[in-house]
Amino acid sequence: MSPPLARTNEEAHLYMQMHPCACGATDFGASSSVALVEDAWVCRYEGRCAGCGRPRGFEFRQPDEIAMAEGDAWAPGGQPSQLIDAGEWLAVADTYGGHPADLTGLSEVEVQQLARDLRAAAAAVDEVLKFLPAGAPAVPETAFWSYRGQRVWRSEPGRFGRIRLEAAREAYRRLAAQLPAGGVPAGDGKGEQA
Ligand SMILES: [Zn+2]
Repeated sequence: MSPPLARTNEEAHLYMQMHPCACGATDFGASSSVALVEDAWVCRYEGRCAGCGRPRGFEFRQPDEIAMAEGDAWAPGGQPSQLIDAGEWLAVADTYGGHPADLTGLSEVEVQQLARDLRAAAAAVDEVLKFLPAGAPAVPETAFWSYRGQRVWRSEPGRFGRIRLEAAREAYRRLAAQLPAGGVPAGDGKGEQA
């Protein structure tokens, strides 16, 4: 069986982050190599777990034509992932999109990081939307093939409707665009400061 297709390096790295060692560590000091295997270019990551030392490795097939993702996108084009399912992508969006309710006191650097994370969250919702057939109102059941993805879907299937997804993507984008570039001053409207 040929290894699964990773559309971009970012997608391959995200997948490896989502599949830690049995000891819980994700870092395995990977070195990568590319080889032609049965007419397909296969990228192999190998190393030893930083936590427990056991050998770890991943293999991904590369696309026939390598294309760069534009802007904040995780992958170019409209084809859905073969590596990370729709439920897992929404979990990625939740992770990147999580932020404190109160943003006061954030420095310029923190605001820039938060804006990047929010755009990554919006792009992850984009990846969920790629699983929607044209005109379909919701992501089909076949788009959830992992245990983790199925759990996300079952816990709140209504989140995978087209309208909800588009609204979530827009909310992340809007929040990222509204963040003041220079940081969020502390203490405004919060009473007096010493
Ligand atoms: Zn380990």
